[in-house]
Amino acid sequence: MKDPASQTCSVPRYYDSIDFPELWREFPPAPDYMNTTFLIPADSLRVLQDQRFQKQMQRAWQIPFYQRHWGKAGMLPGDIKGLRDLERIPPFSVHDLRDAIERQPPWGDLIALEGSAAAIPLVLQTSGGTTGLPRPMLYSPRDREVMNIITGRRLFMQGVRPGDVVQVALSLGLANGGFLAREGIWKYSGAIPVMTGTGAQTPTRRQIEIMRAWKTTHLIGFPSYLRHVGLVIRDEMKIEPRELGVRGLIVHLGVDDREALQSLWGASVFDTYGTNECGSLAAECAERSGMHIFEDAFVLEIIDLDNNRPVAAGEKGTIYQTTLFNHLAPLIRFNSNDISSIHPGQCACGSCHQRLSRIFGRSDNMVKFKGTNIFPEAIGALLTEFSQSNGEYVCIVDTNEKGELGMVVEAEASIEGSNMTALRGAIESRLKEALGVTLPVLIRKPGELSTRTGLDQNSKVRRLIDHRVQS
Ligand SMILES: [Zn+2]
Repeated sequence: MKDPASQTCSVPRYYDSIDFPELWREFPPAPDYMNTTFLIPADSLRVLQDQRFQKQMQRAWQIPFYQRHWGKAGMLPGDIKGLRDLERIPPFSVHDLRDAIERQPPWGDLIALEGSAAAIPLVLQTSGGTTGLPRPMLYSPRDREVMNIITGRRLFMQGVRPGDVVQVALSLGLANGGFLAREGIWKYSGAIPVMTGTGAQTPTRRQIEIMRAWKTTHLIGFPSYLRHVGLVIRDEMKIEPRELGVRGLIVHLGVDDREALQSLWGASVFDTYGTNECGSLAAECAERSGMHIFEDAFVLEIIDLDNNRPVAAGEKGTIYQTTLFNHLAPLIRFNSNDISSIHPGQCACGSCHQRLSRIFGRSDNMVKFKGTNIFPEAIGALLTEFSQSNGEYVCIVDTNEKGELGMVVEAEASIEGSNMTALRGAIESRLKEALGVTLPVLIRKPGELSTRTGLDQNSKVRRLIDHRVQS
């Protein structure tokens, strides 16, 4: 029998949803990007941003989330004339996103589907989700394609060329990173994506066998996992990692030790900044001196949260993100919680695109301890100074019966049976010297912390266990 619905049902097609030549003129993929948008003078770039920002504002005013959020602050359409007025717009945070989902489940009223999810092909990935369900984000074909173009650009900037083999050791599930990497590598770099995923998806030794057999040229992963893989190659398989011929490690470096990772692998380490909502926002060029923001697609502000004002170049603050291309769910002054600073001066590569120095940590991961702001990531960076430590650690925060805050650092030794007492004392005094507070240290056996940090299971490793926030 003939299905009557088949006469009337129209199935939206991805390739019909995008005018590709028009999209590529607006957001040039690599290598064209490297000679065009990447090199335009700062004032022309600002003009381009301003035009795109005004369009993005018009679009945002059609979306219930912004009508409500801005309306509450007394803002009217037309109040914001251009980027010069950006600071007058009230920011929003992840709490507002959760609230948007509660108001209009399941996607929330920031994602402007305009009635029907059936009209365009959509893809879903998620953010966060330490408590409750992860937060969904839907991408329209064009929004997704801009993210893919940007992935291709950053890989090109970092030396990936057609025919290369890029092994992706990121989680292949709801989080955006892994699948977005595959789409960008496949469609816009000419390289071949090899999706091994995390250690839970492909065990570390199998990852290494694949790397050797298929001649992987680049690895994408978190630094802690790539360090772990390098140490397994060197210490367990007794092979020099550089013999594998990997040329580049593409990571979210944060405050991790670049030199240690480079010398372990004999490969260049490139820092990148990306989020689930936006994909890649900034990436290091071959100079590796700060991450160029893709300023034709994003405006990033570095804000001092105490007074909500931008900080000067070189000073640390929280990143506010504004997208310049997003139709389905534009972000206008989204407080990312990521701490960074603008790298002063111009890059030797000749691009005027501003650079983020690095991501110092997340403001919601920061522990205020005896008047000092401590990021677990900073403790990790100090541990890499000790050759008797393999760099694995976790910070445990709790309150005692008197309500006093306490923090213990548990760190793994690099080999079993090393002089634990001496190592412990040395780390404790280094932490005291660098951070100005006394933190007790416990030395653990190699691998002992992995079940608590998730090193072999997740791409994002847990470095802070906060027993105060269980209620
Ligand atoms: Zn550069």
